[in-house]
Amino acid sequence: MKKKIYYGNVAVGGDSIVTVQSMTNTDTRNVIETVKQIKSLERKGCDIIRCAVPDMESAYAIKEIKKEIYIPLIADIHFDHKLAIKSLENGADGIRLNPGNIGNKENIREVVKVCSEKNIPISVGVNSGSVKKEYVEKYNGINANSLVESAVEQVGIIEDCGYDNIVISIKSSDVNLTYEANSLMRKRNEYPLHLGITEAGSFVNGTIKSAMGIGSLLMKGIGDTIRISLTDSPEKEVLVGRKMLQFLNIRPYGPNIISCPTCGRTRINLEKIVNEVEEALVDCKKDLNIAIMGCIVNGPGEAKEADIGIAGGDGKAVLFKKGEVVRTLKEKDVVNALLEEIEKI
Ligand code: SF4
Repeated sequence: MKKKIYYGNVAVGGDSIVTVQSMTNTDTRNVIETVKQIKSLERKGCDIIRCAVPDMESAYAIKEIKKEIYIPLIADIHFDHKLAIKSLENGADGIRLNPGNIGNKENIREVVKVCSEKNIPISVGVNSGSVKKEYVEKYNGINANSLVESAVEQVGIIEDCGYDNIVISIKSSDVNLTYEANSLMRKRNEYPLHLGITEAGSFVNGTIKSAMGIGSLLMKGIGDTIRISLTDSPEKEVLVGRKMLQFLNIRPYGPNIISCPTCGRTRINLEKIVNEVEEALVDCKKDLNIAIMGCIVNGPGEAKEADIGIAGGDGKAVLFKKGEVVRTLKEKDVVNALLEEIEKI
């Protein structure tokens, strides 16, 4: 049975729903900008937020940030255990650290003691850049075995302090390695797994890598919380993460737009229609299937299966709703008519 932990009131692991995380890219000391970004991410459907805590001022800022936000906040700590303790004292709901890089065992014991008193989870992160030399040599390089052994050792340091409120995060920028390492880790223990492809790159590259690496693990039932790493806005990370869960039928996330790729039969500007409808529905939370099809070859079939849809003709389109033809529209009226009908559903 997988272990369930809680960041604030958000459950991770066990039988809980897969959650989506992101990380702020504001200066954590700038409370106004950080709160503004977190609120925007909350509206997009972010479940848990992580903030970098590189100095004491950032650790103190957590107190003010926490007063303004609703989702749990994880403090991301490196090197200095005092930053972890101060973040916890200021209301962090979780700590992300790598025990190996915050000094001696006494430092770790101090952090664990505070976590234990407050029942706060520790997210233990290992990525392909932080595998210990000993494991690289033992397993002939950076691979699933050396990553997992390195993570197990880090987890063991916390367990040795008598604490097991733990989430494990094993990341690589390599899709196959992330898949293999997390598949292997799932067999080793029951701690919740945080999935991500680290340093995945730009919006397009990062989305593709994450869809393959994280998506394939989720399809096997592996993974409890996810973060899409993009060299782009955190809002896009949340959008991609939530869409990924939607398309795997794990969690609904607004309308699902089905549209054809267009071809030589298309006689309306389908790309423009799809883009305008998608843009207009960006914050819509209705769980709907919307079919926007270019012609009558596959159009009416798809449109009829959907909650609502259109099948294009020559400068016009037929509007379907719940399988019934509603009316024929001029091309210029298609977007507004679709949006009006969606509003009524
Ligand atoms: S639905 Fe029609 S227009 Fe769209 S790709 Fe298929 S055949 Fe072409």
